[in-house]
Parts: sequence; structure tokens; C-alpha cells
Amino acid sequence: MIYTGYNQGTTLKNSDTETDLKFAEKYGFDFFEFQMGPLYEYLAGHEIKELKEFFSTSRIKPYALNVLEFFNLKTGDALREKTDEFCSMCEIARELDIGIIILVPSPNEGGFTRKQILKDSVETISKLTDISQEYGIKLAYEFLGFKESSVNNLSQCNEIIKEVNRPDVGIVLDCFHFYAGDSRLEDLEDIDPEKIFVFHINDSKKGDTWTLEDSDRLWPGDGAIPLERILGILKKKGFKGVATIELFNPEYWKWDPEDTIRVARQKTVDIIDKYYK
Ligand code: ZN
Repeated sequence: MIYTGYNQGTTLKNSDTETDLKFAEKYGFDFFEFQMGPLYEYLAGHEIKELKEFFSTSRIKPYALNVLEFFNLKTGDALREKTDEFCSMCEIARELDIGIIILVPSPNEGGFTRKQILKDSVETISKLTDISQEYGIKLAYEFLGFKESSVNNLSQCNEIIKEVNRPDVGIVLDCFHFYAGDSRLEDLEDIDPEKIFVFHINDSKKGDTWTLEDSDRLWPGDGAIPLERILGILKKKGFKGVATIELFNPEYWKWDPEDTIRVARQKTVDIIDKYYK
């Protein structure tokens, strides 16, 4: 069994949290991933208990907070600010009964080596996990398939979380980032499926490694990512999680959000039916 999830990135610029939740529930998504931008906007005008009320009377359930951005390679005040931001996210997650916070790595502006990045990520994640474990929240590390990103492929991300070696720290596998950063299918074969805490499903325009951007994301099945192979490996390995659709395509942001969410659900179901069942 693989569940379907909706990530607010897909309607980031043409919708809001209330609208996303309404239509994600209406069109049958099982889980919901918040983007912090629209969530903070919502909370500026509403009480958090309104969201709790929504989930208590809906079938859809909250899954993850996306994202603590650029959390690593920080020191001093910058690190303290990130840690404060993380603590606020833990508070929100606990209120809403959300089990996962996603972490995204910083650009490698200092020209750090892979070994230095590993050491820094392990230390920072260990400190963050000391906080989040008090809340019963897991952390999921999302590598970004961009040249400048300090963690930009699956094998590097897996190396870090293996070194952290805690049951509450895992990986986000995002098909776009897997493809854009030229991660290898052999590396996916080596992943413990229990360590894939979040699975972002999407497709991409065809492009050489390091040339693609978030805006090149397409509906699953409409692009160049070998989803048949990726889903085939996950199925073989017994992955049983949530396939969350996450796009940032400005073309789809021009649509009516109800249409975007309806199509998002259909495209997610279609690709799972095709390659996973
Ligand atoms: Zn993602």
C-alpha cells in the first residue's frame, strides 16, 4: 500500500492553506504537507485550533512541515536563529500532531569538502534531534539536486543519516532532486526503505545534470524521470509510505487551484497504479 500526499508547493502562488486543505480533502488525498510560507500566512489570521478542528473532522491527515531551509553550515547567531526557528516549528508540529519536519541543506558557499559537510550535518542534526525528540518528531533530510547545494545526491545524504544513526532521522527522496543531481539507481537499491520518511513524487523536463530548476517540475508521468525504475525499486524493497506530489511549476500556478489539486491527485494515483501496484 502506498498513500497519496499533497504538498502546498504545487499551488504555492495561486492558493492558500484553507483552499489547499479543502480541495486536497475533496479529491481524496490521504496526507497533507505544509509549506511554511502559506502556513505562517494562515496562522497570522487564524488560531491554530481551527486547523486542529479541520483535521479532527476530515479524512486527510497532516504529515510533515516543509521546511527548515538551509539549516547546515551555520555558526554563531545564524545557527541560533535557525535553532529558534526549528523550535517554533516543533511547537506547531506538536499542536497539529505532525510527525515529521523536513530539513534542506544550505548552498556550499564556503567551498567545503564532502567530509567537512558530513561532519557539520551530523553535528547539527544531532543537536536538532535532541530538541525534536522531546516532541516526538522525526527529521527528514532532503538533498537538493543543484550544483551549489552542499548535499546534492542520494548517496551523500544517506552517508550523513547513517552517520547520525538515530531512529528518528531519515531521508526525503524527491524524484526531481534525484534526477536533477544525477543520483544513481544503484544508490537507491542500497537505501533502507524504512529510512525514507518522505517521498516526493513529480516529473521533470529533460535536462543535463545541474541544469534543471524547480520550475522544470512536471506532473508525474509527463517528463523524463525514470519513475518506472524508481517506483519499481521502492516496490521491490517493500517501501510502504506516502507518495506526496510536490511541484513548483509556474504554469500550473496559473490554473484554478481546484483544478491543480484535482489533477495532482489523479496524476499521483495514475503513476502509482501504473508502476507500483
Ligand atoms: Zn521535495
